[in-house]
Amino acid sequence: MTRKILVPIDVSETELTQKVITWVEAQSRIDDAEIHFLTVVPVLPYYMSLGQGMVDLPDIHQLKNRAEKKLTEIATQFSLPEDRKFTHCVEGAPRDTILEMAKTLPADLVIISSHRPDITTYLLGSNAAAVVRHAECPVLVIR
Ligand code: ADP
Repeated sequence: MTRKILVPIDVSETELTQKVITWVEAQSRIDDAEIHFLTVVPVLPYYMSLGQGMVDLPDIHQLKNRAEKKLTEIATQFSLPEDRKFTHCVEGAPRDTILEMAKTLPADLVIISSHRPDITTYLLGSNAAAVVRHAECPVLVIR
């Protein structure tokens, strides 16, 4: 069976993406793996939680289109064969969606960045921590 690697990407964080490039490229060469880039667009409750005073909720379809475009651009920064590179843009809660896709692909490996560079208090961000804790496959955390 084809080896599949899931690479969750936060499209708003370019520095995090830079850190994973060499690792993804190196892992992709093992058994000609398929690379599945995934970005998750947070759903409406996320925006609602920002406060009731927020009247103009963003259009989720517009957000999804933008995220999809950005992910495609980001994927071009990785030197990978076109026929083994896939992009997925899904609405949901990042940690749940990443774990769900890891299961359904199914992924042989997840490659994820630890946390945003400006967050120095935690060794692992909340999404990365949930993926490490609950994934059923190996997880490579890039720091
Ligand atoms: P922080 O809270 O410091 O941003 P996170 O755990 O949210 O830490 O992010 C670490 C990694 O989790 C990101 O580099 C990315 O791989 C993954 N991730 C976070 N948010 C998303 C998202 N919306 N879509 C896909 N992956 C994400």
